[in-house]
Amino acid sequence: MAIREIITVPNPLLKKVSETVDNINDEVLAILEDMLETMYAAPGIGLAAIQIGISKRMLVIDISRDEENRDPYFFINPEIIDPTENLSSFEEGCLSVPGVWEEIERPDECTVRFMDVKGVEKSMRCSGMLATVIQHEMDHLNGIVFVDHLSRLKKDRAIKRSIKSRSEDFIEND
Ligand SMILES: [Zn+2]
Repeated sequence: MAIREIITVPNPLLKKVSETVDNINDEVLAILEDMLETMYAAPGIGLAAIQIGISKRMLVIDISRDEENRDPYFFINPEIIDPTENLSSFEEGCLSVPGVWEEIERPDECTVRFMDVKGVEKSMRCSGMLATVIQHEMDHLNGIVFVDHLSRLKKDRAIKRSIKSRSEDFIEND
């Protein structure tokens, strides 16, 4: 396993629509392991393959935030079905948009259909924070970053703020 570099806005790869995984082979499993390690190290609660520069429809999520009892989920070729009309709003952040937190409204429940690491088709009903995280990560597979849900003005400001926050980190660490 290895910690990979997480790409950040405005990297154009984040706008790319990821490709379907045809074959769950050792390479795919190794990428998923790297994604998990990278997410835990960040730390974060969800990561899409494109965030480490790999344009494949794969996600890892662990909302437990508990190092002692980790509870990772792997999603290959996930699809969201029957989202509710009810919306709820969470303050979201993203490892690819560091330094920015914004309230985003999304359906408060949805079902995700996916393949697990053994290639078995599964479906899972998600609510609360898990529903938000899965929809946020699914967006990445379709080239969408959470700030794309904001107005143009708010989005431009958020991206500038993120870039600025990173250059400040750089100066501090220098
Ligand atoms: Zn994200």
